[in-house]
Amino acid sequence: MSYVLVLNSGSSSVKFQLVNPESTATDVPLVSGLVEQVGEPMGAVTVKTGGEEYTEELEIPTHSFGLERAFAIMSEHNVGPTDVEVIAVGHRVVHGGRLFSEPQLITDEIEKMVEDLIPLAPLHNPANLDGIRVARELLPDIPHVGVFDTAFFNHMPPAAALYAINNEVASKYDIRRYGFHGTSHEFVSQQVPKLLDRDPGETHQITLHLGNGASAAAISNGTPIDTSMGLTPLAGLAMGTRSGDIDPGIIFHLSREAGMSIAEIDNLLNKQSGVKGLAGVNDFRILRERINDGDSDAWLAYNIYIHQLRRFIGSYMIALGRVDAITFTAGVGENDTEVRQDSLYNLDMYGIDFDKEANLVRSREPRMISTPESKVKVFVVPTNEELAIAQKSAEVAAAAKQAGLY
Ligand code: ADP
Repeated sequence: MSYVLVLNSGSSSVKFQLVNPESTATDVPLVSGLVEQVGEPMGAVTVKTGGEEYTEELEIPTHSFGLERAFAIMSEHNVGPTDVEVIAVGHRVVHGGRLFSEPQLITDEIEKMVEDLIPLAPLHNPANLDGIRVARELLPDIPHVGVFDTAFFNHMPPAAALYAINNEVASKYDIRRYGFHGTSHEFVSQQVPKLLDRDPGETHQITLHLGNGASAAAISNGTPIDTSMGLTPLAGLAMGTRSGDIDPGIIFHLSREAGMSIAEIDNLLNKQSGVKGLAGVNDFRILRERINDGDSDAWLAYNIYIHQLRRFIGSYMIALGRVDAITFTAGVGENDTEVRQDSLYNLDMYGIDFDKEANLVRSREPRMISTPESKVKVFVVPTNEELAIAQKSAEVAAAAKQAGLY
């Protein structure tokens, strides 16, 4: 059995998995784990394998140190990168700018290109790059592959990809709608034609990735024609902690009237807004408890969230002209029955015949939650970004091997 080591490096953490690229979306990976609180006085490395969880608490000065500890713990249980066959290391990279519409075999040149994209994702790309550098040093003989969150949306039509702002400024500063969560939207949307028993080249669909971050995509015949996130992942739907779309004038107003700095406004809109900013919590399980306890802030936050979701669903139905399927995925989309029901409530005149009973079924499998007669079918399809990264990385690694590069 061969595996891909999938790495998702943040500024103070690294999430990792050892995934068999041939597995299914609901299979448990051989190993999953987390290095957290890098650079803090006390950090932790957690490794899950064979149904057990092993945690070590210690100071983790660098990503490199943390990953080495993780590999050592994995080796103690015979699942380290040298104990099993690792055919590739797949790196999640948030921003691929205009440069990358496909996963890339990482070379020094590709590393430099990811570095050049830092201005577009100042919080994410430096951390992703750190992860790439550290992992290439620790595992130099294995092909490393960059999989970009923006890649799926690289060829969106200009009318959807460009903003109505001065075009000289926009082109000088690379301002356009890049879109994010692309790996998830692609992974989920590729399963829908099979569920519909339809040709992927003749399927019009809306995918709703509703996790802590949330985004919607309109996909026509396998190609995205619009998505809700923009230059950054702040745009679009109201999310766990992010505002989603707001009047840009609010930023000027906060600067002038509240004397807030750009960094403070950035923090406000990215970390202290969305459902958390409105109700104090961003986890939908707790939000639901509060609503049931009669908390009016929680109720309002939920209604704003649903209102935004319905706005996007409606506009994408018009953009697509004909819709075969609407699919929910990610933490909220896969689990919150009420979000699914309320976001598609009373839309029978648009061909959506929601099946309330089917919606209540709990499962890890892809499933239909509209009636079989519904013109627009509604699905829940669990996403698995790590598996998608593993599959893409395995393909790129195989091509590199065939070309004699490894
Ligand atoms: P991320 O965007 O961090 O990858 P996920 O896709 O894992 O997030 O989604 C995490 C969110 O999913 C949680 O913050 C929570 O709001 C929601 N969630 C998870 N499980 C449930 C559940 N059983 N019911 C409702 N919401 C859930």
